[in-house]
Amino acid sequence: MVFILKEGVCKEEVDNFVKMWEDRGFSTILSVGTEHTAVCLIGNTAPIDLPHEVETNKIVDYGKRVTEQYKAVSRTVHTDNTVIRITGYDTAEGRTEDVLFGDGMFPVIAGPCSVESEEQIIEVAKAIKKSGARLLRGGAFKPRTSPYSFQGLKEDGLELLFQARKVTGLPIVSEVMNQTQLPLFEDVDVIQIGARNMQNFDLLREVGKMKKPVLLKRGLANSIEELLMSAEYIMSAGNDQIILCERGIRTFETMTRNTLDLSAVVLLKQKSHLPVIVDPSHGTGIRSLVAPLSRAILAVGADGLMVEVHNDPAKALSDGGQSLDPVQFDELMKDMKKRSVMEGKQV
Ligand code: PEP
Ligand code: MN
Repeated sequence: MVFILKEGVCKEEVDNFVKMWEDRGFSTILSVGTEHTAVCLIGNTAPIDLPHEVETNKIVDYGKRVTEQYKAVSRTVHTDNTVIRITGYDTAEGRTEDVLFGDGMFPVIAGPCSVESEEQIIEVAKAIKKSGARLLRGGAFKPRTSPYSFQGLKEDGLELLFQARKVTGLPIVSEVMNQTQLPLFEDVDVIQIGARNMQNFDLLREVGKMKKPVLLKRGLANSIEELLMSAEYIMSAGNDQIILCERGIRTFETMTRNTLDLSAVVLLKQKSHLPVIVDPSHGTGIRSLVAPLSRAILAVGADGLMVEVHNDPAKALSDGGQSLDPVQFDELMKDMKKRSVMEGKQV
């Protein structure tokens, strides 16, 4: 159940209202938007006489029963788009550029699947920056299907990302695999929860306690609703800075690595106020599909794109077959910039 409070109610009235419900045994989620304040009740709301509660409480504008299990991430509760701002860093020219997800921009996150060496990450970071990427991605801890595959450079990989950030000013995105690693991620700008960890609820709760943007990828075999429920875990622990990422799901199809579900973008944006981006690299696993699908991703209304780029894909230690080289990425970015103008978005 959600109560939308009247405009202009003061903090003390809101606090008293929340306390009244908590005293009656409900958990609450408070959402303070630009125009409306919403209070969601979690618990058995069936016995509540909704019209009576609305009529008798002078600070309540209206109330609504919410059937979805996800409440905090639902658009019913929070009608405005949530905007995630990632603060840029000083570049050599001394400029800082903030990146916004969910505010009519179409930022592109790019970089290698794995951080492999200083030379590799600095070279890729400089190249993607020049082409117009807004954030640098790179895996330091790698969840690999085989225990014998390259597992990432771990702490050293994070250090190399910090160096690349210093050189280019690009904020960094990297994947955390479990909560014991979180102290190492204090200085990472966006924490990625990978597909394989989408329902690692202990990890979700811990990143929920952090004051840092989280990029939450859809699991390989998870429904749209399950993705929203995972986001709900993070938000109910206190962190509302969540970017959802569609990255393809397992189907019977074998010609692609995954089936990229673009209908999920539209549905997620209808159901939730959170920004939604798409990763066509893992979504298809095929380099030649990345640019055509990026065009579709922009057209379908996503809030951004994440693409794997390697300076020498043939020698990549992971996911070389789906990675663009810097020249291909530059062509993609030129195309995205041109098309984004028609879509009224800024790449
Ligand atoms: C990645 O982005 O590096 C990654 C491993 O992706 P996913 O979790 O979507 O498989
Ligand atoms: Mn990868």
